[in-house]
Order: sequence, then C-alpha cells, then structure tokens
Amino acid sequence: MQFIDLKAQYQHLKERIDKRIQVVLSHGKYIMGPEVEELERNLAEYVGVKHAITCANGTDALQLCMMVLDIKPGDAVFCPTFTFFATAEAPAFFGATPIFVDANPTTFNICPLDLERSIQDVIEEGKLQPKAIIAVDLFGLPANYPEIEKIAQKYNLKLIEDAAQGFGGEINGKKAGSFGDIATTSFFPAKPLGCYGDGGAVFTNNDDYADLLRSFRVHGKGNDKYDNIRIGMNSRLDTIQAAILIEKLKEFPTELKNRNRIAKLYDSIISKKIVRPFVPENYVSSWAQYTLKVDNRDSLITALKNEGVPSVVYYSKCMHQQTAFQPVNLCKNELNISENLSETVLSLPMHGYDIDVDKIVRILNAD
Ligand SMILES: *Cc1c(COP(=O)(O)O)cnc(C)c1O
Repeated sequence: MQFIDLKAQYQHLKERIDKRIQVVLSHGKYIMGPEVEELERNLAEYVGVKHAITCANGTDALQLCMMVLDIKPGDAVFCPTFTFFATAEAPAFFGATPIFVDANPTTFNICPLDLERSIQDVIEEGKLQPKAIIAVDLFGLPANYPEIEKIAQKYNLKLIEDAAQGFGGEINGKKAGSFGDIATTSFFPAKPLGCYGDGGAVFTNNDDYADLLRSFRVHGKGNDKYDNIRIGMNSRLDTIQAAILIEKLKEFPTELKNRNRIAKLYDSIISKKIVRPFVPENYVSSWAQYTLKVDNRDSLITALKNEGVPSVVYYSKCMHQQTAFQPVNLCKNELNISENLSETVLSLPMHGYDIDVDKIVRILNAD
C-alpha cells in the first residue's frame, strides 16, 4: 500500500501528461516557456486571485514573499510552531526573528488567541518590530483567516498564507491561496497539487507585489535578465513541470472530491475513541494529510506496518524544539498544545485514488 499513490495518478493521466511533455521537448523552451504562463493563468483562475507567479519550490515562494515585504533583522514574524520547517526558515533566512505561536487543539492550526497574546508580548518587550504573520493551512485545512485577518489589521501586520498543504481548501467558498496579503503554495510531489520534481507559486491581488515577484525570481530583472535593478534569486518553475501541472490541475477537482470521500469514509468507520480530524463548518480541507490524535502511537504504527500499511508522523518536533532555532526567542514558554500534538499525531494513507480504507481501519480499531 502507498501512503500517497503517485503511480496510480500517473497511470490515470499518463497519455495527457506524456503528450504535454512531448510538446515541450519539441519546442525546446525549457525555461519560462509558454506553458509557464498558461499554468499561471489557470492557477490564478482556480484560486480566484489576480496574479499567480510560479517559482522553483514552496520554500522559495515564502522567501520571495519575505523579499517583497522587506523582512529584515529586527523584525518579528509570527508563525505556528507546529508546522514544516520552511515556514519559520523563510523569515529566519533574512535575519528576522520567528515568534512561535501555539496551535488550536482541534484544528491543529495557529491559535488566534495565542497569536494576539504573542504580538502583545513582543510589543511590550519593545525589542523587535512586529512585521508579519505567516499562517499555515496545516494538513490541508485553511487556518482561521476570519480571525487572523482581524488581528493582522488591528496590529498593522502583513499576512502571508502558507498554503503549501492547503491548495484546494476553502472557507465560505473562498479558495486557499487567496487569503491575506500574499499566499504561497508548493508543488512538491506529495502535496495536494504536486508536480514531478520541485515547484511552487505565489498568489496575490496586489499588482506591485506581482511586479516585484516577477523581478525577484529572475535575478531582480528590470527590462530583461541582463538588466538587474535589485538583488533577486534564480527561482523559476521548469517548463516541463508547468506542462505536467497544467494536466494535473485539470484533474485536481476530481481528485479533491475523492480525497473528501475517503476522509468521510475514514471518519465514519474509525472508532469514536480515536480523535479524528475536525473540519469547521463552511471550511473545505484539501486533505493533504488525514491525521489522527492517538495515545498509543508507537503500537499503532507497528500494527499498521505489520499489515503493510504505511503511516507517517507529521511532525514529531515543533519549531521551537528544532536545533536550528536554539536559543528560541520565546515570549512565554508554554507551547503545550503543539508539544502534545507532536507526541500524538499520526497520518494515514491519503490521496485521490483507491485506498483500502476498510483494511486500515480494521487494524486501527482492533489495537
Ligand atoms: C512543503 C511545505 C513547504 C515547502 O515547500 P517545498 O516545495 O518543499 O519547498 C512550506 N510550508 C509548508 C507548510 C509545507 O508543508
């Protein structure tokens, strides 16, 4: 059994994807070929934003946002401690200080109450300049943007949506990638919308940000890449990856329906004694992961493994526990909920193709 069945997906789309790749091989425009622009138009339309700017990966997408927002040493950037490293790495890479915020125990996303408390602490301490919030759509569930947007406004902070796992999610019909001032996603193969290598994108309605992003991703270009008007980076999405993504994006709504069907099935047959994922009303998850909270994690992993069922722990270490972030700038030293999650979460196989849910749940419920 596969945790994420990329082979089944390729078999399903093989003819279409192979044909698209062949077109790129024929025209030979491997860098910034016409498929890149075509994909960017399709992405912007799907997400419902004015601009989609592709780049080399989801980490670069976050770094590009930091450059656009001029994040620098002395700045405080608030982000969840229960996330993937790249979320906190991006501000730290530019010398800013990530301020780690605790999670909501039921959605696992950044807790708005703890966020506001952390902002007030930083203001009171008076050492750092509060600059931005990076909220993460963890495991595919959009963060609580209605509340987070209010806080960002109240404290005049920029809001970045890290939708690396969230692509396809929604709140009240508004798509992930459209929240905050600027949003990012990743096309890493295992993400909800993945390519066959590395890839990423930034989404925004802001024309000035979009211009800056298109410049930053090609060495801070002005009129062309040999006219350099600012320091940038080399972060483009390969034309072949864009061609693959054009076909995968067409199939994405169907895959998303299947993921939601599988999540519902898990929900309905997993023992009520196990804490299953919670999706608030009017929210749609893209189900990047289907993640349980369990007390007997090690024995469950073994029981599943013995029957050939893969399971993964995302994440066993919070950001404030990472070696790279020691010593941590902690406004308060309690990130209990996140620490508890890191000890109890377990993700089950989830993708848009066939999964033997009955078999998986039989093992879970028996343990
Ligand atoms: C995967 C991921 C990223 C980074 O994306 P890459 O394409 O792997 O660089 C950033 N943030 C989160 C929350 C992620 O899950």
